[in-house]
Amino acid sequence: MSKKWKLFGDECPICGSEAEVFTDSKDDGFAYDDDDDRCVECGLEGNVIIGDEDDNGGCPAYVSWSDFDDDEETVS
Ligand SMILES: [Zn+2]
Repeated sequence: MSKKWKLFGDECPICGSEAEVFTDSKDDGFAYDDDDDRCVECGLEGNVIIGDEDDNGGCPAYVSWSDFDDDEETVS
């Protein structure tokens, strides 16, 4: 399957814009562990982390943003 950029239910911690993920998941708001992620506005990069399942029907995945970890990758 080919991966595509899809909007993801998370916000950029720098500019507050929407995040999108590079995933082969079929549904918006879903992604797989370690899928690439970026902010649609400023291009901040991250990775998807899958947390524990919750009972609220919410998506347990969230974004780990590069600049907010101890990762020195910079945005060009
Ligand atoms: Zn941003």
